[in-house]
Amino acid sequence: MNSEDSISLGFDIGGTNIRGVALRTDLSFGETISESCEDDHEKIIQTLVRVANRIQGKERLEIKSIGIGVAGFIDKSGVVRTSPNLSTFADYPLLEQVRHEFDIPVLIENDATSATWAEVQLGAAREAKNAIMVCLGTGIGAGLYINSDLARGASGFAGEVGHMVIVPDGLQCPCGRSGCWERYASGASFGNIAVASMQSRESSSLVNEDDGSREPFQSEWISRLVLARNQEALNALDEFGYWVALGLANLVNIFDPEKIVLGGGITELGDPLLESVKKSYERMTPERSLRSKDMLVLAQFGNGAGAIGAALLAMQNFSE
Ligand SMILES: [Zn+2]
Repeated sequence: MNSEDSISLGFDIGGTNIRGVALRTDLSFGETISESCEDDHEKIIQTLVRVANRIQGKERLEIKSIGIGVAGFIDKSGVVRTSPNLSTFADYPLLEQVRHEFDIPVLIENDATSATWAEVQLGAAREAKNAIMVCLGTGIGAGLYINSDLARGASGFAGEVGHMVIVPDGLQCPCGRSGCWERYASGASFGNIAVASMQSRESSSLVNEDDGSREPFQSEWISRLVLARNQEALNALDEFGYWVALGLANLVNIFDPEKIVLGGGITELGDPLLESVKKSYERMTPERSLRSKDMLVLAQFGNGAGAIGAALLAMQNFSE
């Protein structure tokens, strides 16, 4: 077996799911395997082993390296300092533990940074030398790609754009400040915006058909209404698009990218989301004709980007 016949394994450890994917040496990749994730580091390690075995059972190739994307502050020694949805990862030596389990080279990276690497190397921004990926999930994560390189910052914590304050004394954020961008423009915020706009109108058509109630509203439910072109849901999407655009316009002024790639589960809404963001974005960036054309694009790899990017980073980092 030569190095042509091997795979790099990529994982994305999220608050609810662990996703794994095999990246082959020709840069093609297998199907994403997903298992649920509990907030327990021993169970997470067991899940990684199980998913790895499932993938190897399909691919039947040697695993040469492992890359793992995880939300939060990852220091340069592969210790997860904090992770927003996994309290079990407080100061947890993830790299050491995974290497102990698999005995092959392992790389740990912030999940948004991993996703960005997939999109700039193989996906929606592969022609760009300067790009930003913004992941609208439970919070907002971002990866910064500047002059053809990832910018990680002095401590490895760069790209925490979700905690830019955009509303002074605004909504309380778990980070301890108020008015952070992710309290208004994360995927999770979309459901809240729809509920608020619905409650301001008595005869709303935004009623949950599942049980006839108006609460609790989930982003997934509102998303179904958007795809059915429900007018109130589309209005809520326009309001959400305003908040997304507000932060993007700030980022464009700082970074002047060629592409901004929007990722996260909510981007499954596709063009209606992109159009709502663009509507506000164009009002907020009068100088945009001087900048790159068609700057806003949707991620190509959807929820698989974090695992694919982590696998690619590991493959490149550990190749001779
Ligand atoms: Zn915050």
